[in-house]
Amino acid sequence: MTASDAFSLADLPIRSDLRGREPYGAPQIDVPVRLNTNENPYGPSPSLVEDLARVVRENAAGLNRYPDRDAMALRADLAAYLGHGLTAEQVWAANGSNEVIQQILQAFGGPGRCALGFEPSYSMHPILATGAATEWIAGAREEDFGIDPAKAVAAIEEHRPDVVFLTSPNNPTGTALAPETIAAIVAAAPGMVVVDEAYFEFARTGTPSALTLLPDHPRLIVTRTMSKAFAMAGTRLGYLAAHPAVIEALLLVRLPYHLSTLTQAVARTALAHRQELLGTVDRLRAERDATVDWLRGRGLKVADSDANFVLFGHFPNRRAVWEGLLERGVLIREVGPPGWLRVSIGTPEEMAAFKAALEEVL
Ligand SMILES: *Cc1c(COP(=O)(O)O)cnc(C)c1O
Repeated sequence: MTASDAFSLADLPIRSDLRGREPYGAPQIDVPVRLNTNENPYGPSPSLVEDLARVVRENAAGLNRYPDRDAMALRADLAAYLGHGLTAEQVWAANGSNEVIQQILQAFGGPGRCALGFEPSYSMHPILATGAATEWIAGAREEDFGIDPAKAVAAIEEHRPDVVFLTSPNNPTGTALAPETIAAIVAAAPGMVVVDEAYFEFARTGTPSALTLLPDHPRLIVTRTMSKAFAMAGTRLGYLAAHPAVIEALLLVRLPYHLSTLTQAVARTALAHRQELLGTVDRLRAERDATVDWLRGRGLKVADSDANFVLFGHFPNRRAVWEGLLERGVLIREVGPPGWLRVSIGTPEEMAAFKAALEEVL
């Protein structure tokens, strides 16, 4: 045995607040049917692949130079996509909305500060808070996974959080928040309020975006991503809309040249082809609604979903159900309150495989 064999993480002088923590860990297992990380199952068409290859080739000739540090052209394209009269100065982009959120916590959280979220919700929010040395306070959602505005305001008054996280539609429950709930929380919050709208494009028709609240609320931040509806999870591109002063704050903490030339070019090309990429959203929403009905038809409890996944239960031994599906080549996610499981919406063939496997397991 060498000295390096005996050495482990516990021997390193790691920060005490990171000791004993677990990293984010959705399993990446190679199985025929992957319905565990809410990706869009439809890849780019051959003609879009050609276009992406062409912009990579064009930009490759200039890779000796740093990228546009402020990604102005991309931010203008993202603002145009969002609409609501937004401009490039009100939009910021980074490598996934996870990096966007990390920058928000670096600028507005930090030692001695705290962030409040309403659980069950996205597990990365507390992990990113911890990484930014920001205390995490877990507020609660209601039985139906909604947020009671009066209770949320009370929690805000009790903890005075520097950052409040609202996920709408929520992961892993699929629940969208009413704009009145968000407005009540923004009015009560002493610090920043982040509405994580990673799944907004999948919301049922008529669900308003928190973008509508931006003109009245300079401490509101709305985050989005190209990882889900846009079918570009591999590109790593997330973004936000907020008051230009918020973006000035983020410039203080971002790494210089954080968005590579290739990322910017590929994201702009994907945005130009949004008709194709977002063209699968209606199909996925219909498949989601059919999945909800099918699961309810089997007598299961199912949370209403405005996203591209469905939370269902309630299983005395959810691990056994998850493993039974995996043995049949179907990977879903063991996440959410005890007894519940989450399935991402895939192609009709993938959903048929999921249903067949679940019937066998049950
Ligand atoms: C998937 C997801 C994201 C996306 O993260 P990226 O870093 O943009 O891939 C953000 N928020 C929530 C709630 C998610 O589920």
